[in-house]
Parts: sequence; structure tokens; C-alpha cells
Amino acid sequence: MDWSRYQIAPGAKVRLADFDPSDTGKHKSHHEALPKIEEHVARMAKAQYLLYADGAQALLIVLQALDAGGKDGTIRHLFSGMNPQGVTVACFKQPTPLEQSHDFLWRVHAQAPPRGHVTIFNRSHYEDVLVVRVHGLVPRDVWSKRYDEINAFEHLLGRDGDVRILKFYLHISPQEQLARFKQRLDDPARNWKISESDYTERGFWPQYVKAYEETLEATSTKHAPWFVIPSNHKWYRDLVISRIVVDTLEEMKLKLPPTRVDLKEIAAKYHAAEEREKNGGD
Ligand code: ATP
Ligand code: MG
Repeated sequence: MDWSRYQIAPGAKVRLADFDPSDTGKHKSHHEALPKIEEHVARMAKAQYLLYADGAQALLIVLQALDAGGKDGTIRHLFSGMNPQGVTVACFKQPTPLEQSHDFLWRVHAQAPPRGHVTIFNRSHYEDVLVVRVHGLVPRDVWSKRYDEINAFEHLLGRDGDVRILKFYLHISPQEQLARFKQRLDDPARNWKISESDYTERGFWPQYVKAYEETLEATSTKHAPWFVIPSNHKWYRDLVISRIVVDTLEEMKLKLPPTRVDLKEIAAKYHAAEEREKNGGD
């Protein structure tokens, strides 16, 4: 799969209208894609085992979307095969008074992945140039400087923390969002997901599009690229993201670390202990 068309080149102009949220590439159906998604998920789990064992590099995955964009589903479908010991999901909601009393990156930096780990951000520091901008929660003078601050922060994570960063914008259409809200209304098991703000935020769609476009333009870098993922079809979203994550992990040249002990010596000790056990203990 050539996913490069979903990647935003550094400095490129972005028009979300140029990306079809219903795109499924050459793929025709969920049925056809499922074995591939499963294969990617298995390879991701294998690579994560090596990342953890190797303990030298980290991976940060940023998920951003409008409400009902599919962040939760993506996390559930793609990352449940990984060893929970080395994976963290960090959700960023409205800042608490304590968080609010710090700079906007304070709470984010604390959740950055340590070496050997994968961290998934369900929303992220990008809210501070998206919702914050759309609702004028801080003056333009403040949010407009945050693009540079974000780039410097992500650069720091990469250079000093060995963190690879992948950022996914889950692109859905307003019609698809409405259909998903309807499902949440109709299905008692999903009622809990509905919030008042979903409908009010929907009214700001054009403002969000503009804010996203400028964000993607200003913060897609070689080290921390943005991808616009067609997400009206959940299976295609899963297929593309899993492929990008697999390719990135496999490119990181992860390997099992060398043994820290003399295996022959340990084996000899083991056999001696086993002998003693057999002969009724020591
Ligand atoms: P779901 O998809 O399940 O609804 P969610 O991520 O939308 O999950 P909510 O609790 O519904 O979770 O909403 C969290 C809200 O917090 C979002 O509306 C988001 O825009 C807002 N938020 C996140 N970070 C900030 C921030 N820095 N400043 C202001 N609002 C923020
Ligand atoms: Mg919500």
C-alpha cells in the first residue's frame, strides 16, 4: 500500500476538501481488508516486543479527530494485541485547574513515552491550537506561537528522548458524524457516549477545518509527520493506520539486546541444580 499520499509534506499547503473521507484506495470491503489488518496487528505486536526488549527507542502515536471520528475504536482495534506492560494510552480532556496553571505542554510532556514504550495520545497538545483557537480560550497572540513551541517540543522528544512520532487526523464527513451520533442514540450500549457538546461543536465544523488545516501545515515535519486518514470506513482507517505503524516500527531496526550473562556458565549451573534435585536435593 502506498500511504504516502496521506502524509502531509513539511510546509505543504493543506486543503482537507482535497482528501476524500470515504476513500478506500484499491480495497473493496471490510471482508477483504480484515486478514490484512490482522496481519498488521500481529506484526505490530511482534515489533513492540522488540521495542520493549531493546529499550532504546520509543513510539508516540497522536490521534486527533472531531467527535465520533473514531479515536477510541482505532485504539481498541489496533493496539489490543500489544503487551500492556509497554503500552500506555493517555487521554487529554479539558485541563484541570492544576494543569491550567501551567504551560500547555506541562501535562503532555509528563505523558511522553519512555524508551522501550509505545504511547498513544487520545487527543493531545494539538487541542491547544484547535478547540482553544476555535473557542478563543486564549488570545491569538498566544495560540499562534504554539506551532513553533510544538515543533520544538516534538524535536526535543525525538532528539533527546529517542521518540518516533506519528500523528493521525481521522478525517470523517459531517454526514458520517451525524450517522454515528444517530447510532449512539439508537443503541443503548452506546448512549453513554453522547454528550451535549457533540452537537454544539458540530456547529463549528468550518472553524475546525480551518484550524486543522493550519495546524497540519505548520506542524507536519520529517520527524513527526501528520497523516490525513480517510475514516468514514472504519476498516480502511484501521488498514491504513496499522500499515503506517507497522512500517515505522519495522524501519526502526529493532533487535533483541545481547545477553548480559555467560549462557554456558548459567546452563552449567542449571544442570548442576537439576542433578541435585534429581538426587533428592542438597
Ligand atoms: P469521546 O470521543 O468518547 O467523546 P472525547 O475525547 O471527546 O471522547 P470528552 O470527555 O467527550 O472526550 O471531551 C473532552 C473534551 O476536552 C473535548 O471536547 C476536547 O476538545 C476538550 N479538551 C481537550 N484538551 C483541551 C484543552 N487543552 N483545552 C480545552 N479543552 C480541551
Ligand atoms: Mg466527546
